[in-house]
Amino acid sequence: MKCSKCGKTAVYHARYTGRYYCKKHFNEMVEKKFKETVKKYRLIEKGERIAVGVSGGKDSVVLMHLLAKLREKFPFELVAITIDEGIAGYRPPSVEIAKRNAKKLGIEHRIYSFKEYIGFTLDETVEIMGSFEKGERVGACSYCGVWRRWLLNYAAMDVGADKLAVGHNLDDEVQMFLMNILRGDIARLGRTGPYYEEIHPELVPRIKPLREIPEKEIVLYAVLNNIEVDLSECPYAVEAFRAEIRDWINEMEEKHPGTKYQILRSYDKLFPLIAKTYTKKTSELNRCKICGQPTTGEICKACQFRLQVEKKAREKGLTFRVE
Ligand SMILES: [Zn+2]
Ligand SMILES: [Zn+2]
Repeated sequence: MKCSKCGKTAVYHARYTGRYYCKKHFNEMVEKKFKETVKKYRLIEKGERIAVGVSGGKDSVVLMHLLAKLREKFPFELVAITIDEGIAGYRPPSVEIAKRNAKKLGIEHRIYSFKEYIGFTLDETVEIMGSFEKGERVGACSYCGVWRRWLLNYAAMDVGADKLAVGHNLDDEVQMFLMNILRGDIARLGRTGPYYEEIHPELVPRIKPLREIPEKEIVLYAVLNNIEVDLSECPYAVEAFRAEIRDWINEMEEKHPGTKYQILRSYDKLFPLIAKTYTKKTSELNRCKICGQPTTGEICKACQFRLQVEKKAREKGLTFRVE
């Protein structure tokens, strides 16, 4: 097949538009979508300090490359943050990949580990808490998600960032939207939409410049441009519900190309209404009594989890770092 623009050999077919792309025009198309998202929602202002969360996986590494490229024409500061959850065999190689990419691009890189800032690695947490099947703990992804969110915010504040860029792609956004719809959790949709809302002085606003780019295109962008990424999967199983939603959306996209973009557009239209009704205002949020990060209750979820694990470790007489 030939590129719809220049007639050279095509490397990609976007079924949702019917267009074919050669390498050059594929790169241009991806970079344009990224830039337009940044521009449309004013995600980055000149001179701002942007922290980018980089796990070493395809999305975050490609995001760092696109931000570095944007910075050549539009001056802003960039600092990369990697969270090391402490997952043996999986995390160490991806941390190295994040490090090598940041070095190559000349970007300052900082690593924050669960071990140092929470007190336990994720592996240790699972070991301390016991069996998921027997109901002794919640899923590993629950601890990981809550703590990673907390530590990313902590790290972004620590490096003095104005905003935190995360690598959520189109597929992630659409999955998240439908999951919350199917769970009836509309309030959650108001927290993180197409653009950021100033929510609380202790919460660094999150931006998602890749939200208009399908996962497939991010993988191909990394491959075509020889960007080193970690494609391995986390050993802790992906949440079953999310996997079902993902498969269903992919099936719909296969039958009806463009479905993912249609779902995203629906979300974008609903977001202002949802945010207006459900987003907590600064005055409605408290500061966690332990860590100071915003919470609706007295103690934030990250601190609650940490206290639970510390208690269990003490009960079992395990010698992990316990305050
Ligand atoms: Zn072309
Ligand atoms: Zn807290």
